[in-house]
Amino acid sequence: MSHVFVVDANKQPLDPVHPGRARLLLSQGKAAVLKRFPFTIILNVAIDAPVVEELRIKIDPGSKTTGIALVNDRSGEVVFAAELHHRGATIKEALDDRRAVRRSRRRRHTRYRKARWQNRRRREGWLPPSLTSRISNVLTWVKRLRKLCPITAISMELVKFDMQAMENPDIQGWEYQQGTLAGYELREYLLEKWNRMCAYCGKGNVPLQVEHIVPRANNGTHRVSNLTLACEKCNQAKGRQDIKDFLKKKPAVLKHILAQAKAPLNDAAAVNATRWELFRGVQAFGLPIECGSGGLTKYNRTTRELAKTHWIDAACVGQSTPEHLNITRISSLLITATGYGKRQLCGVDKHGFPKRHRQRKKVHHGYQTGDLVRAVVPEGFAAAGRHVGRVLARATGSFDLRTARGRIEGVPVRYCRPLHRNDGYSYHSTRGGNSSPPL
Ligand SMILES: [Zn+2]
Repeated sequence: MSHVFVVDANKQPLDPVHPGRARLLLSQGKAAVLKRFPFTIILNVAIDAPVVEELRIKIDPGSKTTGIALVNDRSGEVVFAAELHHRGATIKEALDDRRAVRRSRRRRHTRYRKARWQNRRRREGWLPPSLTSRISNVLTWVKRLRKLCPITAISMELVKFDMQAMENPDIQGWEYQQGTLAGYELREYLLEKWNRMCAYCGKGNVPLQVEHIVPRANNGTHRVSNLTLACEKCNQAKGRQDIKDFLKKKPAVLKHILAQAKAPLNDAAAVNATRWELFRGVQAFGLPIECGSGGLTKYNRTTRELAKTHWIDAACVGQSTPEHLNITRISSLLITATGYGKRQLCGVDKHGFPKRHRQRKKVHHGYQTGDLVRAVVPEGFAAAGRHVGRVLARATGSFDLRTARGRIEGVPVRYCRPLHRNDGYSYHSTRGGNSSPPL
């Protein structure tokens, strides 16, 4: 179980507590539930100058999923873990749809406005909306978690490979039992750059050795641009030969290797624009930030013998990672970005013709589409029974509920009680590898 967040009567964040203790506080009437996701209780007393344990929020940003972990650096305990699923693809589809509708409308000549071409400007550093939403998702959650617990530092994975550590292995002071971290990182980098196969014979799925293109014996350097990967057989066969002699009969392979060796791993793969933008966003919180590389994350995870999941990766980001990470019985919260509905008032059919119109109003009888409610509907109604689900709010006051067991239609608003207002995300919890249905 992840810990439960606690705030005092003034909504000041306190130390997260064990779920058992939270249950006790709730049953004794000393606290009430403030939020269901992430589960937070509010004490009914205010606490002056509370003494709290400092927590570090650790982020491993990914293109589809971002791992988030809250770690107590002193005790090595992971207090809370979450996996945030982004909605980049949905946003792109929505924009493509809108573009198609607008384009077809112009072509029908139903408007007399002259076409405006080439009058659009993009500001510098513009990112597509699908990527902007990813950044906003992460910033939103850092902001939300900061309100619920005492976060005093941030760690994030900024780059895939630490190029500086690789180019100048000597400037790094830290060495580990299994050789230098730089060496570890270098291997990962080479695997990525050479597509995980032998550069000479193209064999994959075999143990690969780091190979000097200009051999050490001929004063070849340790620089990345002089390194490639080879299977043991090819490595032995090449030995101290010059690469030009070794590949005399395979000029195409030689040409490819020499070109590939000089090309740095493309920028997008090493550091992507989104991460830099996220970094700038995170800086605005004014907390100390530690940046780690993907190589370091993997090193931390494998030396601590942990499984690979997004949130465990997040917990392993950066040099501050405690020697022993306590992750027992942590179940991560799966958070899926859903957005707050759309602004489109006119629904169209597949040909782009108007089909239905929505009201300008979003709130009906105190509910918005997406609010999580509990409904206890008495006998005599088609929807009789107890239901928990997301509401589809209608002006008529007859709501539909999206529950784990399917859609329940015609739930009268007077039998609904709000559990969690729509906050742009849906939630599942994981326990022992099984995930509950989305709520
Ligand atoms: Zn080979």
